[in-house]
Amino acid sequence: MNKYGINLWADDNFIIENGEACINHLCHPSLFKITNEIRAKGIRGTLLLRFPHLIEKQISNLYSSFDRSINENRYKGEFKAVFPLKVNQFPEVISSITNCGEPYQYGLEAGSKAELVLAMSQTIIGAPITVNGFKDTEMIRLGFMAAQMGHNITLTIEGLAELESIIEVAKDSSLKVPSIGIRLRLHSSGSGTWAKSGGSDSKFGLSATELLEAIHLLKQNELLHYFHMVHFHIGSQMQDITPLKRALREAGNIYAELKKMGADALESINIGGGLSVEYAQHENDRICTYTLQEFSNDVVFLLGEIMNKKGVEHPHIFTESGSFIVASHAVLISPVLELFSQDHQEKSLRIKKENPPLIEELLDLNRLLNSSNSIEFLHDALDHMESLFTLFDLGYIDLQDRSNAEVLVHVIIKKALLLSIDHPTSELQRLQEKLQEKYLINASIFQSLPDYWGLGQRFPIMPVHKLNTPALRPAALWDITCDSDGEITFESQSPLYLHDINIDEEEYFLGFFNVGAYQETLGMNHNLFSHPNECSIEITNTEYKIKYIKEADSLLKVISTLGYDEIKILETLKFSLSNSTFITEKEKSDTIAQLELYLIQNSYLRTTN
Ligand SMILES: *Cc1c(COP(=O)(O)O)cnc(C)c1O
Repeated sequence: MNKYGINLWADDNFIIENGEACINHLCHPSLFKITNEIRAKGIRGTLLLRFPHLIEKQISNLYSSFDRSINENRYKGEFKAVFPLKVNQFPEVISSITNCGEPYQYGLEAGSKAELVLAMSQTIIGAPITVNGFKDTEMIRLGFMAAQMGHNITLTIEGLAELESIIEVAKDSSLKVPSIGIRLRLHSSGSGTWAKSGGSDSKFGLSATELLEAIHLLKQNELLHYFHMVHFHIGSQMQDITPLKRALREAGNIYAELKKMGADALESINIGGGLSVEYAQHENDRICTYTLQEFSNDVVFLLGEIMNKKGVEHPHIFTESGSFIVASHAVLISPVLELFSQDHQEKSLRIKKENPPLIEELLDLNRLLNSSNSIEFLHDALDHMESLFTLFDLGYIDLQDRSNAEVLVHVIIKKALLLSIDHPTSELQRLQEKLQEKYLINASIFQSLPDYWGLGQRFPIMPVHKLNTPALRPAALWDITCDSDGEITFESQSPLYLHDINIDEEEYFLGFFNVGAYQETLGMNHNLFSHPNECSIEITNTEYKIKYIKEADSLLKVISTLGYDEIKILETLKFSLSNSTFITEKEKSDTIAQLELYLIQNSYLRTTN
């Protein structure tokens, strides 16, 4: 049975039990049952399910892995971490992070003014806040206000101009001065798609010369004792650990040199984020080549070694990994609305009393097909189809015959595939790709999987039920936007097979996994499909609880976020209906009531699915 590569991407978070995808935690609830329960409440369209226990698991793994490395290496510094808000700023996520993170003093990282305000209001006093990215004087003042509130905040400067602004604010206010960090521009380049975050042509950070100037400025203005941290970030989805090791050697040596130059308060090295997430469903697509323990061992060992060599105290180690913490916690569940090749089923045949001889032969082939003759019969069927197409072009058979030929050949290929499922030939595989089924999903790829649209990032996809029946249809997925880019194509190198189902008779739900990082705020309202319905699920030994449900925005709400006046729109529509003619007053008022109901529903489709 197809396991959809669950052993590769699921990190033991999900398992297949009794043909359903279940959460591998305490009472093992089934995603299918959870989905049905939520839909029974009348919520339609795409569902985003959050599992806070998976955030807790990642935080706890991160800290325990570093603790182990620190103990084993007799490292003297401490391990500290912050969650970068840009990866997911939604309140349910941040509250899980601050709650689960409290025992560890897990903090938040902000990269913009709005994120800084969030960090200032959500971080528990004492847990660190780090601030990266370009800053104006207002943002720097916000940092001073945070320090004044008692926050343990570090403003990491990206350039000398920011340092000058800090010096100015420090001079003309008596607010508490925040800790100062400096982002290093390393010559060793980054890795992964986001390599531009590191390296000497990076958008961010100070070069060696600028660093010396910064130290000079800090000394001159008697602020050197606020300089606590050096920082670098080599990029997201680090596939291989070698570039990080290079960056650590460089940054570690810079740290040691700065200490020797008299930066006495300097005590931390922030190695940024980039711990990768495994999205692969097929062995040959594997992304990640290292484990968390290897990562923490390398970081701790290398920094210890450099500092020992240079006779400098071991620094505290900060990380800002974000995807690693939240990617796994969210699963997107989308109902399938339609299969587009369903007409190629036996029931669509319209066999005449008198058929052309080749159609009669196709009917025989279909009737007599078995495991010993399947390949031979398949070849005959394909031959007949070619001939029938030629006969059609020459005007010898009609549209009815042609349709029968297409349906019969599809049915024969499907049967032959099923009969040889255990030893498919390359020819069968090629045929199968041609017979790709298009599954229409009640979701927007632009809203919910923007990295697929923008970067070609594939996410693990698996039906959440029917997993004990064979899935043989090569699948491409179409979303409900009117944009031809809203399609997840079938890739023969990394194929996705789904079930052959009759949507009129049963529902079919697909799960998209590891969608908790970046997708939600990067997602856009293309075609005015809003953020999907959102739920948070808590699991105990005996049951699961739907802790939080937030329905997708109503049509009126979505329209109003563009700046339209929703009341005016409603009035206009009601007025036009009231003034229309040729229907009874009763029908008018019923129609207006119906319209009002439609406008407060979300924008996803509401068929039976
Ligand atoms: C984006 C970013 C991160 C988070 O990166 P992940 O790959 O999600 O771990 C951390 N630090 C900085 C400075 C960033 O810009």
